[in-house]
Amino acid sequence: MPELPEVENTAKYLRTRIKGSVIQSVDVCWEKTIQNCAAQSFKRKLRGVQILEIWRRGKFLIFDLGDLRTKKPLFMLAHLRMSGSFRVSESKEASKKHDRVKFTLDKGEYLSFHDIRKFGRLYLVEDHNKITKNLGPEPLSDKFSPELLKQTLNRRSPLKALLLRQDLIAGIGNIYADEALWHSLIHPLQPGCTLKTAECERLHQSIREVLKEAIVNQGTNFGDKVVEYGLHQPSVYGRSGKPCRRCKKAIRRIVITQRSSHFCPACQKLKKRVLSDYS
Ligand SMILES: [Zn+2]
Repeated sequence: MPELPEVENTAKYLRTRIKGSVIQSVDVCWEKTIQNCAAQSFKRKLRGVQILEIWRRGKFLIFDLGDLRTKKPLFMLAHLRMSGSFRVSESKEASKKHDRVKFTLDKGEYLSFHDIRKFGRLYLVEDHNKITKNLGPEPLSDKFSPELLKQTLNRRSPLKALLLRQDLIAGIGNIYADEALWHSLIHPLQPGCTLKTAECERLHQSIREVLKEAIVNQGTNFGDKVVEYGLHQPSVYGRSGKPCRRCKKAIRRIVITQRSSHFCPACQKLKKRVLSDYS
């Protein structure tokens, strides 16, 4: 599932390819992809608008659109969820079986939203805050300090569950939560409120380093062709049973709030457990 680094790279790719392009027409092949308006209205509103900028907030891609007719601000937001991805091509024939929405652009280009599992969503709004207002701070922003992280994590839930909450920190998902915890030698089940200041500083640094490195590596290749260009190799995520890259002990996998968590039982000792219903 694409997280901050993968979405960041998608935004970069789209900026290079289609910033400034004008949408000539839209084909909606799977209507449920369009989340907050009818497919007909989505198609009508997007016809003739220019793509001014493409950026990321949390795991959302945000297209700033210039509506030349109404002059009103317009934004298309995309959440890739499990398997969504965007591709730009120069021929309509290049479109694939699982394309859910296709945009015909000027200059003979096509943008397609490809999504095998159909969970990805596109939104059209006049104010992007309508969708993003509940997101927590960006972990790579100046605002995200060790003090803020400590304050944010001062809850009884396991750290892994807290790191996944988009209203607390935006953009981290299963992979990079596991990676950051492994790098900072902290057990995923440790309750957030038990973190010492030094541990919090370590976790803060690990979160930022792990995300920055993954961005440079163009994200993680999930082996399912969602981010087929990703070069990032996780240190712990998805390595259950394999030797820890630090101490060689076998990596373990447990389930926390219905999500797989990977950790090293030797490097990441559980210091204090408040909740008992996790195993
Ligand atoms: Zn280890």
